[in-house]
Amino acid sequence: MAVKALQAVRGMNDIFPSEVAGWQNLETDLRALLKLYDYGEIRLPLLESTELFARAIGDVTDIVQKEMYTFADRNGDSLTLRPEGTAGCVRAAIQHQTMRGQTPRYYYMGPMFRHERPQKGRYRQFHQLGVEAFGQAGAGTDAEVIALSARILKQAGVQATLQINSLGSPAARAAYRERLLAYLRPRQAALCEDCQTRMERNPLRVLDCKVPGCQEIAAAAPHLVDHLDPESAAHFACLQDLLTALGIPYVVNHSLVRGLDYYNRTVFEWVTDALGAQGTVLAGGRYDGLVSQLGGQETPAIGFAVGLERLLALQEIQGQLATAAQPLLFVGALDDNSLAAAWKLAEHLRDQTVSVVSAGPATFKSLMKLAERSKAHFQLLIGAGQLQGEPVIIKEQDGEGRWEGSLDAVSTGLQSLGVDFPRHAPHTEHNFATARRLK
Ligand code: ATP
Ligand code: MG
Repeated sequence: MAVKALQAVRGMNDIFPSEVAGWQNLETDLRALLKLYDYGEIRLPLLESTELFARAIGDVTDIVQKEMYTFADRNGDSLTLRPEGTAGCVRAAIQHQTMRGQTPRYYYMGPMFRHERPQKGRYRQFHQLGVEAFGQAGAGTDAEVIALSARILKQAGVQATLQINSLGSPAARAAYRERLLAYLRPRQAALCEDCQTRMERNPLRVLDCKVPGCQEIAAAAPHLVDHLDPESAAHFACLQDLLTALGIPYVVNHSLVRGLDYYNRTVFEWVTDALGAQGTVLAGGRYDGLVSQLGGQETPAIGFAVGLERLLALQEIQGQLATAAQPLLFVGALDDNSLAAAWKLAEHLRDQTVSVVSAGPATFKSLMKLAERSKAHFQLLIGAGQLQGEPVIIKEQDGEGRWEGSLDAVSTGLQSLGVDFPRHAPHTEHNFATARRLK
């Protein structure tokens, strides 16, 4: 009887080399950008105590109520696979006391876990880049953080719209909550089932419900920004002036409330309609109360997270996705006796950072097929002739180029033979520069 093959957990993806090229390219670009803004990478555990997320994100949020991967470990401690990175980052900064009188800026990149219904752009293991800036309360920091988010999307070649809103102070938000409830209660019957049940607990969530009937009701609801405390109103006005000064277009979305409890004042999202229902690529906001809520000293903070799968999906749609680099050279051995010489040659060339794919021993015909499939720019074969001193012939696979040299000469590098390297060769800059100089 055939053995049943096992499958990955639903909503958790395997990523193969052809796709990883796009990931690595994106990750490299992102790291370079983060340096421009003086963010340092922090590497955090994937597992945290369940209590951390319950306290940070809030008990009545979708994430904590429905989406967490929570289990008891062998000691019976309740642990949770991180559904987002802010809680762990704040926990780490408090635990290691890195915020005292300092203004650290951290970023992290890696997997997050949420038990959601998998669909395009929504997975159970997905990846985020998150950034967190601590210790600065002014709207200037909000503007700078948003400028970084704008630059990330621009660099990725992704078009999206910036939406902003202000949630005000906790007190203003609590007062607004009552006002909103008074508006929603007479309309409760017209809301979707989800909203009917969460309305009393978390009425702000009704504002960003995606069901059309709820959106209609939300559109006519009182606006949060009309009921802000004076300090938050000034903060929001200052942010808008700065965004205008920086030339970053935005729209104020009165329904933007974000699904996590820890936000106050500025919240923002970059949204696109190119991804169907999963339109938010990047989202964040200010969370001045979280550090003290988790046991640290009062410390203002702001951050955002960008979904890497959604960023890559947009890059693919917009033709910006990087493809896998091909090897520079295919080395084939024609028989058992040539194997050692062919492999030694390949190792010598790798010493010089030439990327080599090797195959054999095999017949001429099958080596030709393998060489073509490898998509290497050049190819060469080693057989009995080369062992007896006949020249090694290097050919371009998709062109007319043809060079030759003794086995020893080829071993010392392709440049010395005058090989004309492809302009966008998958080998290092170092080799490319040397080859150009020789011409
Ligand atoms: P959504 O409204 O799409 O559920 P969210 O508000 O839950 O998003 P955040 O917690 O703010 O999302 O996470 C920030 C970003 O992470 C999102 O804008 C999105 O790009 C990405 N993201 C969130 N959940 C998922 C998921 N399940 N699969 C893939 N990407 C996700
Ligand atoms: Mg969500």
